[in-house]
Amino acid sequence: MSNVLVVAEQQHGVLRSASLNAISLGRALVAANGGGTLTALLVGHELGSAAAELARYPVDQVLTVDHPALAAYLAETHAPVVAAVAQQLAAEQVAATATSTGKDLLPRVAALLDAGMASEIAAVVGPRRFKRPMLAGNAIGLVEVLTSRVVVTGRQTEWPAAQPSAAAAPITATAVPPGPALGAEVLGLAQLPSERPELTEARVVVTGGRGMGSGENFKHLGALADVLGGALGATRAACDAGMVPNDLQVGQTGKVVAPELYLAVGVSGAIQHLAGMKSSRVIVAINKNAEAPIFQVADYGLVAKWEDTIEDLTTKLRALRSA
Ligand SMILES: Cc1cc2nc3c(=O)[nH]c(=O)nc-3n(C[C@H](O)[C@H](O)[C@H](O)COP(=O)(O)OP(=O)(O)OC[C@H]3O[C@@H](n4cnc5c(N)ncnc54)[C@H](O)[C@@H]3O)c2cc1C
Repeated sequence: MSNVLVVAEQQHGVLRSASLNAISLGRALVAANGGGTLTALLVGHELGSAAAELARYPVDQVLTVDHPALAAYLAETHAPVVAAVAQQLAAEQVAATATSTGKDLLPRVAALLDAGMASEIAAVVGPRRFKRPMLAGNAIGLVEVLTSRVVVTGRQTEWPAAQPSAAAAPITATAVPPGPALGAEVLGLAQLPSERPELTEARVVVTGGRGMGSGENFKHLGALADVLGGALGATRAACDAGMVPNDLQVGQTGKVVAPELYLAVGVSGAIQHLAGMKSSRVIVAINKNAEAPIFQVADYGLVAKWEDTIEDLTTKLRALRSA
């Protein structure tokens, strides 16, 4: 029996869906401990409906820490709050989803708690034993953390989103002072305007590779993504060539996605790209080279030039949608 603390995320008072994957990970930790209490923590300012939303999921309690100095996320100010709450609860395990925030925050929390950490775990084998993908997903490592307190991040694609529970959990506001910013300051947050879903949360992802030829040509993939209600992704080669912004990169050094449908166009299927998308439910590849490695992981493949296929496909799908 032990206490498990999961760190949830919100943006502008709206719960981020990655929090639901963290709850599933938290429940697995509780089960590995043979029972215990699962607490979900929200840190920020003007938390809106996020706490009430979080309380609908299978946690035993929701704690909130609301302070104006915590409005903009900074690991420097947020990590001491998470660590202090973990101390108060005597939580033996602290977990979060390995989003950009989770990857930034939890190592600091681990350092403050003097705890060992396992990153991007895919399975809980025991209270201190975890499985995690390594070497671009080609090996699964079994890691054991030797400290009594353990901090983990879970790979989002490996933990299903928690489902709402019948009864709402209690919500308690707790006052914990923010940590010192240590000279760091958020001057502003530039958000690229996009009507499309967030890449890591989209049910459909349409990814273009260097084979698209230019950034201008990505507009054809954008149109296809819009018909499917999906997000646009890219390979590192396409990003490095300046065709599209870096935040679209999927892969080992980009985002890890596992949508229901992944459409790869002009993508060779390098091992580092596969590391970020091979857990997708259905993979469709369009490539002019029949020998391209992407066809080895694709459920459906079309050997063709994108110039001869994408517009047709988009028109037909649009017609099907409006029928
Ligand atoms: C440490 C490290 C980390 C990396 N991390 C990542 C990562 O996170 N994500 C990532 O994507 N890569 C990553 N890479 C790079 C990776 O190794 C590949 O270089 C990259 O994925 C290749 O991108 P690509 O498939 O777009 O380009 P290419 O390998 O150039 O392939 C282009 C493909 O397009 C096809 N094509 C060309 N013209 C057309 C056409 N008209 N119609 C249809 N098909 C066409 C070609 O047949 C080819 O298969 C990493 C590399 C290293 C060393």
